[in-house]
Amino acid sequence: TISAIRPILGLRGYATAQDISSLLLVEHKNKAIASSTFNALTAASKLGGNVIALVAGEDPDPIVSEVSKLQGVSKVLIAKDKVYEHGIAEVYAPLLASTQKQLKFTHLVAPHSAFGKNIMPRVAALLDVAQISDVIGIESPDTFIRPIYAGNAIAKVKSKDPIKVLTVRGTAFPPATISDQTGASSEAAPESEKPALTEWIGEDLQKSDRPELGAATKVVSGGRALKSRENFDKLINNLADSIGAAIGGSRAAVDAGYCDNALQVGQTGKVVAPEFYLAVGISGAIQHVAGMKDSKVIAAINSDPDAPIFQVSDYGLVADLFTVVPELTEKLKKK
Ligand code: FAD
Repeated sequence: TISAIRPILGLRGYATAQDISSLLLVEHKNKAIASSTFNALTAASKLGGNVIALVAGEDPDPIVSEVSKLQGVSKVLIAKDKVYEHGIAEVYAPLLASTQKQLKFTHLVAPHSAFGKNIMPRVAALLDVAQISDVIGIESPDTFIRPIYAGNAIAKVKSKDPIKVLTVRGTAFPPATISDQTGASSEAAPESEKPALTEWIGEDLQKSDRPELGAATKVVSGGRALKSRENFDKLINNLADSIGAAIGGSRAAVDAGYCDNALQVGQTGKVVAPEFYLAVGISGAIQHVAGMKDSKVIAAINSDPDAPIFQVSDYGLVADLFTVVPELTEKLKKK
């Protein structure tokens, strides 16, 4: 049994740290923990009380060993089965719901990644509570800060539900670190039904030596002004490589096929907050800005001095990208 997990105590009308226990859903791929999990753990720790991590997979032991060493994790639950290999939401959601029904956490937390966004609303529906998405701040165990209207307004949300189901924006919380204490103990997660309605067929992954967009410290993004995939590859990729940056794109660039879907930055793409973000030939529509405005230093190259991107930029270059990007790339390569 898990003695560390306490039932929800609503009688006093408020929760103390002793009453709180959170279940953190660990995202992992290719035998490595996804970086967003470290940020979600920090958020879960901020709630107070215990954080119990749930690791599911076909062969989760290496991940369990890593997770047990993370600062703030007090126990690791393991769901070992082939059905959990590919993160299929239809089998993860019942796993979380039945774990919740048996162990009675106050909070269920996951990263606001494609993985977490796919699973947690289903879990909330199964538990008949609201889903609280894209949390960027924790005021108290029942009050959360989250962006609305593509980040143009910030809402403070108070949940009266007995169980809070949260997805957490990674860039809003620092990553949890490895603890110098002995690792947390682990045990099997409660049994859960494994619906066989969905079958894993395959995946077509792009392999790249470049930094991953969501976790990169520098990002170079290209927009519609690039005019073709060839130009995008030649100009944006070379410029990004000259400073070791990840590549991003506006939705217009993605829709036109200049770069891959996974590279879209913005409201309906990835939210990034690198040390340095360079927008090339991107107008700065609110939906794009929603995905990059928290970057530490923003620079933009645009031929239109009135382009809205300059309103959020620390540095701006009013110029034709086809002239300045090759020049800039050459200069940076020589550095
Ligand atoms: P444009 O707006 O066409 O801008 C091109 C820019 O390039 C212009 O500013 C122009 O001055 C400049 N330019 C042209 N030629 C040159 C040159 N030779 N040298 C230098 N500069 C030049 N967009 C996103 O990016 N991400 C999202 O997640 C997203 N989600 C959306 C969700 C919804 C519900 C909706 C309605 C829209 C969304 N959009 C999103 C689309 C968004 O509104 C814009 O249409 C899109 O961001 C525009 O892309 P862009 O800046 O590349 O293109």
